[in-house]
Amino acid sequence: MTQNLPLQSLQKLMILIPAYNEQEVLPESLPILQKIIQELIDSQQIAPDSGFMIVSDGSSDQTWPLIEQAHEADPRVMGLKFSRNFGHQNALIAGLTVISQQKLADFVISIDADLQDDPQAIKQMVEQYRAGSEIVFGVRNNRDSDSWFKRVTAETFYSLLGKMGVHLIPEHADFRLLGPKAITAFLQYQEENMFIRGIIPLLGFESSRVYYARRKRLAGKSKYPLLKMLSFAWDGITSFSIAPLRLVLSLGVIFALFGLVMLVYTLIVKLRGATEAGWSSLMISIWIVGGFQMMAVGLTGEYIGKIFSEVKHRPRFTIEKKLLK
Ligand code: UDP
Ligand code: MG
Repeated sequence: MTQNLPLQSLQKLMILIPAYNEQEVLPESLPILQKIIQELIDSQQIAPDSGFMIVSDGSSDQTWPLIEQAHEADPRVMGLKFSRNFGHQNALIAGLTVISQQKLADFVISIDADLQDDPQAIKQMVEQYRAGSEIVFGVRNNRDSDSWFKRVTAETFYSLLGKMGVHLIPEHADFRLLGPKAITAFLQYQEENMFIRGIIPLLGFESSRVYYARRKRLAGKSKYPLLKMLSFAWDGITSFSIAPLRLVLSLGVIFALFGLVMLVYTLIVKLRGATEAGWSSLMISIWIVGGFQMMAVGLTGEYIGKIFSEVKHRPRFTIEKKLLK
């Protein structure tokens, strides 16, 4: 016999969905999610006023009107409209900020609008939260639905980060459950170049994982074209690790040592009176050293740029409209 808790002690869940030009997807994915939430409510696992927070990240299509319609039909569907595109990570931060400030929910599950992450896993996440996990990571156990290119680039990126000492949960993206303590702790991280999946494992707390198969996008195109993906990866590396700076430094040392060897070699050759046609070696070293210096300066500049943007402390997003209960 299952023992039902009294209604008051049921916790309120909010599903947080970042949406950037998702008009093809939302009308399909929202009802699927609503059904799952309703089932959880009916089985008395979450509070009846649990709902949704959809953040339109500067969408230029019908995404926002669709959110407004959904809100009218069911006020448990809430929305935030950004004044422009601030990016996926900032959409998640904004959602968590508003949910926490307005006390809209006890715990939050973030999921992409395209339902590539299996929404059925939400049920297991809730179960694990009720069993005491403060954070539940959604982990995909295959990437069959991703293109060959996306798979290879993603794997390279994660192994590179791992070698630099940034340990992410493998195959976990932004499908996760955060309990109230984790949300409060997360919102203390005020950095501007935020790579959320790197921060969450740093929070501590009891955590668990839910495995699922990643699917194809319901509809529409990926909002991460190659350049945006590369810039996301680059931000992930440079906002988490100074390994590239160290690499440049060690390369510098190697180059300098090589220079010393060359110096000795040239002196010996000269003292022996041999005439060396030194043009090619000179040109080669100029190019190599010059290129290396430019790389070092550029890389240092990247970090200084990051410091610059952190120091300015600009807001990470601007909310133009809110649709709350
Ligand atoms: N997204 C966003 N702002 C952006 C890019 C993407 O809010 O600038 C949202 C998008 O609507 C989706 C999620 O982030 O809900 C993940 O994007 P997508 O599915 O296109 O990425 P992929 O699965 O191809 O990596
Ligand atoms: Mg997707």
